[in-house]
Order: sequence, then structure tokens, then C-alpha cells
Amino acid sequence: MIDFHCHLDLYPNPVAVLEQAVARQMYLLVVTTTPKAWKETSRLVGNSKRVRVSPGLHPELVGERFSEAPFLSHLIARSRYVGEIGLDGSTHLKASYDKQEAVFRRALQDCAVSGQRVMSIHSRAAATGVLDLLADCPNAGIPVLHWFSGSQRELERAVSLGCWFSVGPAMLKSAKGRKLAEGMPKDRILTETDGPFARLGNVPLMPWDVDKAERDLAAIWDVPTDVAERQMHQNLKHLASLAEGYKVAADDSRQ
Ligand code: MN
Repeated sequence: MIDFHCHLDLYPNPVAVLEQAVARQMYLLVVTTTPKAWKETSRLVGNSKRVRVSPGLHPELVGERFSEAPFLSHLIARSRYVGEIGLDGSTHLKASYDKQEAVFRRALQDCAVSGQRVMSIHSRAAATGVLDLLADCPNAGIPVLHWFSGSQRELERAVSLGCWFSVGPAMLKSAKGRKLAEGMPKDRILTETDGPFARLGNVPLMPWDVDKAERDLAAIWDVPTDVAERQMHQNLKHLASLAEGYKVAADDSRQ
């Protein structure tokens, strides 16, 4: 199973969650919300071979953490995976939107200069803004739009720009989310949870809850669940082989 967007460091007991994910032989992309969280989270993950940790600066935090942006640039040079980055156009974040754009644009440029990256990207209420910046910076690498919630037209544009997608149980529970997933290319989808932020009912999602997303995707594609799961593993293998080809600054070669 694959959870390509989880916030391991934000669970009350990250060590126990990691142990259980490793015991289940899961593949994880552990995204961080601030560049400062990257080092400690990487230490926590240690040498788990199926787990990658990516430096990010969450758009919701850009307003208060703008000063950490140069540190994000520093880490982007050292990691093949980058996230969580992106834009959030929610009304309560209007005041920071210009800063969000500056940070996201800079992150994309850093990815391009570093030699491309796999990026886990947030685009809530800002799909067009995200796609505009991706179109402006076509050499940044592979954008993986996490929990995409734009319009069908924005989805078509994202597909034509080469975006990948990570979808989770919380997204697929709505008819709109399932309709969007239907329009995503099968060979560019991965599962995610966005836990512990994302919940089902009142309970934060755990990485292994991606099995619900696998079942939802299998139903959308009208295939058995194991066929959907195999498709996702092929997709991850493809994405990881692209990431393996990216150059990183030498002192954190594991990333
Ligand atoms: Mn997230």
C-alpha cells in the first residue's frame, strides 16, 4: 500500500505509526509543513527504505513562516521529493496569498535549478493559480496534485500539463471527488491519506487507511481491488525511477 502524502510527524505518536506502516511494508511520502520540521522527521524515519521525507512550507503557514523560505530553498537542493508546497485561496488566507505565490514560485524555480523534483502540491481553492505557476515553470519536475478539488476544466488543464494526482479516502467520499478521480489518468494516480489532518468521521486517517481509497478507485475503474493496487504500485515505481534520476546535493544522498 502507498500513502503518498501523510504528515507522520503530526500524529500524537509518530514512532508507533511508522512502525506499523513499516510492518505493513507500506510506501510513504512523509511531507512536512515547515522546512524546520524536515531534519527531525528525517531522523525519526531513519533508514526505512520505503519511506521518503520531503521538505515543504505549507501555504497555510506561509503568512507566519515566510522567513523560513530561504531554508526551504536550501533543503530542496538536498531532496528528490518536495512538499507540502502550493497555494491556498481560502478566504481566511487572503492576506498571505501574495506571499504564498512568492514562496511557491521560488520553490518551483529551486526545483528546476536543482535538476527537477517530485513535488506534492496543495491547491485548495487555488487550482488555477497553481496551474498558472506550474505552466510558468515547466522544468520543475513532476507535480503531484494532492487532494485536487478544482473544476473539471482545471483538471483537464492539469492533466495536459503533465500533473500526477494523489487521492485519499476523504476526497473519494464525495461525489465530486469521485468524479474528479474518474478523469485522472490511471497511470498518474497514487493513494494518500493526508493524515492526521484528514479524517473519516471523527477519526484521523492512518496511513493504512489508503485501502479504502484503493477500493474506491477499483470501483471507479470497475476492476478488482488487487488490480487497482497493482496499477498504483506500477505508478509509484515509474515515479520513483524518475526521481532516482534527479541530482541532489551530496550531503543527504539518501533523500
Ligand atoms: Mn497535507
